[in-house]
Amino acid sequence: MTFTFKSKYDLNKENILEYTSDELNALFTEMGQPGYRTFQLWKGIYSANYTNFEQFTSFPKTLRNILDEKFILRSFKQIDSVQSPTDGTTKYLWELADGSKIESVIIYEGKRTTYCISSQVGCPLDCKFCATGKMGLLRNLSHAEIIEQVMQMKVLGKSSPTNIVFMGMGEPLLNYDAVMRAADVLSEPEGMAFSRKKITISTSGIIKNIRRMADENRPYSLAISLNAPEQAVREAIMPISRKYPLDELLNAARYYTKKTEKRVTFEYVLLNGINASLKDAQKLLQITKDIPCKINIIPCNSDDPNYQPPPDEQVVKFDRMVNANQRTITIRKSKGWEIQAACGQLYAENKQKSRKTVFNEYKFD
Ligand code: SAH
Ligand code: SF4
Repeated sequence: MTFTFKSKYDLNKENILEYTSDELNALFTEMGQPGYRTFQLWKGIYSANYTNFEQFTSFPKTLRNILDEKFILRSFKQIDSVQSPTDGTTKYLWELADGSKIESVIIYEGKRTTYCISSQVGCPLDCKFCATGKMGLLRNLSHAEIIEQVMQMKVLGKSSPTNIVFMGMGEPLLNYDAVMRAADVLSEPEGMAFSRKKITISTSGIIKNIRRMADENRPYSLAISLNAPEQAVREAIMPISRKYPLDELLNAARYYTKKTEKRVTFEYVLLNGINASLKDAQKLLQITKDIPCKINIIPCNSDDPNYQPPPDEQVVKFDRMVNANQRTITIRKSKGWEIQAACGQLYAENKQKSRKTVFNEYKFD
């Protein structure tokens, strides 16, 4: 069994969340345990969300002790949290075993509880309006680090998630295998059993992997951050558009919707003076008219004077223009603005020495 991740909090132990069910099976077989114990172990970890081996009360004490000597069930620590006084949105800051820091957010909205999770430490794609983009990429998260955000927030938050969105730090489709494996574990029926279509993977438009998601018929929801109705503007605010141009991205969205028979969500961050005019709204309608989709309008959250949201009445006009054309549109309130937890504000401090990768250096495969 190959396994390398070790927690700095417990250097001699392995993180059991890194194991697949087959690997757990092999482990228990090696230990001479009956087959049904693996199932109990899986249930305890993922369904009951146990945080220590003492809680596995159906196991003999000796087995619990052996597991406790060898393994950990949590690999990172919460080092801060901040809650919005207005809407309860809560941002959690975690320190990973190697000292990297990431953030996750819980958004409470009526009956909905959305867990917004990170897929990378930082992001290499440098979208101009996004705080995470300024960090560069420090590293990918493992699938276990992705699911652990959900597991820890389930204990800390006011409610379990009704929706899980990959809209925290990072570009999920640049960490494809770990993200898909994490989504698979989150929705595994015998474990966390989270609804597959309530898991949304948001991408800035990594075309190759949008097509791969379609070809592999991944059951998750897909959101594409469009953010501009024409190539020149998109390129100016999203450097990834140089590699994956808008017309090809729209083709990939068409391919995805045909192949999966699902709608996509287009996300559109409104940036005053850049993409927020009524002409832009018209163009947006034009380029998406033959794609089964809904469109989420997000007024930009930013401290940067160059990337500000338009005035509220402009946002409303943009909305009306699209609605007049019988299209689904929602103005997604950017929750948690005052605690810097809203989209694009996730900018955990990462002072460690490891070198970051910026857009120009990123090696796309
Ligand atoms: N990298 C992925 C997912 C993380 S970003 C992506 O880009 O889709 C999640 C969403 O937040 C994206 O739709 C992105 O366009 C949006 N976003 C980024 N910065 C923002 C900001 N400053 N204000 C509002 N939304 C922002
Ligand atoms: Fe990365 Fe998404 Fe931010 Fe762009 S918007 S820099 S892709 S996290």
